[in-house]
Amino acid sequence: MPLSTKATVTDKGAVLLGKYVACDAHDSVKPLRVVTHAHADHMIGIEQSLRECEKVLMTNATKDLINVIRDPLLLMGGFVETLNYGKTIQYENERVTFFHADHILGAAQVLVEDEEGNRIVYTGDFRIDETPVLDADVLVIEATYGSPTCKRSFNKDVKELLVDTVMKGLKHGIVYVFGYYGKLQEVMEILHEANVKVPFIASEKVFQVSKICEAHGMHLGRLMHLEEKEAKRLLETNAPCMAFYHMGSKGKIKGGFRVTVSGWEFDSPCREIGDKEFIIALSDHSDFEGLMEYVRKSKPKLVIVDNFREGYAETFAREVRNRLGICAMALPK
Ligand SMILES: [Zn+2]
Repeated sequence: MPLSTKATVTDKGAVLLGKYVACDAHDSVKPLRVVTHAHADHMIGIEQSLRECEKVLMTNATKDLINVIRDPLLLMGGFVETLNYGKTIQYENERVTFFHADHILGAAQVLVEDEEGNRIVYTGDFRIDETPVLDADVLVIEATYGSPTCKRSFNKDVKELLVDTVMKGLKHGIVYVFGYYGKLQEVMEILHEANVKVPFIASEKVFQVSKICEAHGMHLGRLMHLEEKEAKRLLETNAPCMAFYHMGSKGKIKGGFRVTVSGWEFDSPCREIGDKEFIIALSDHSDFEGLMEYVRKSKPKLVIVDNFREGYAETFAREVRNRLGICAMALPK
């Protein structure tokens, strides 16, 4: 069988690996559904997969996160099997194994080995830093920052800058931080490790997600729920504290010293966009060089770039062909 039949990305966003596996969106003919991590663009059609697939596979941490981000009843609608890093399940004549991806808590890369011994790999979302590179015959890769213009060549440490900016803000009182689930908890961990001792306050879901992260070994410091009496007092009196909100709430929270964490920053690790308002370039995706590094080390014969999710799939496929001489295409077309 030609390698090009071993993997694809469908018009609905499902990453198909080997004969049986559909990752990150529902596919009506594949018996195994994989959720690589708990971000919304990787949970597409999960209800349908729970109803129709034989098994829905995810890591334990991803399962816990989905229970709080979505609804604890959701995953009861089907057969969920948790598969942790390095563990393999056999299905018919193929084997499925998860590996760690440095992205958010629980994120996994997926390896399918078929009966001919082909290694078919899907990275999911990842940051190259602490993601193990898997040898692949066919590699499906994300391309959020797949353009050569997406390079973070900062000589300053972004984590240090984040801590410095927050410390500056705390002199004025409350510091608001806006970001996505997973990233906010990374910010808490960075601040906690840097000994930023003020109370952390989190809105309902951010609080719940944080508790899951702690249960899975992250250290986030002293965290209060927004509705706690002490938290309310701190916020009302503009006492030095940190308040963490999902990016979606940014418009509703007015004033204060504001920090947004975002990957879409390439020129400067810290940019002042208004009065007491900053964007810090903290990303949970690889930049262009990181994506290239993965492909180079993985040594695939064929690269398929995810062109369903946001990013630069066409550009990245072209760069892989031109720079590495490896057959590469962006799918769906
Ligand atoms: Zn993601």
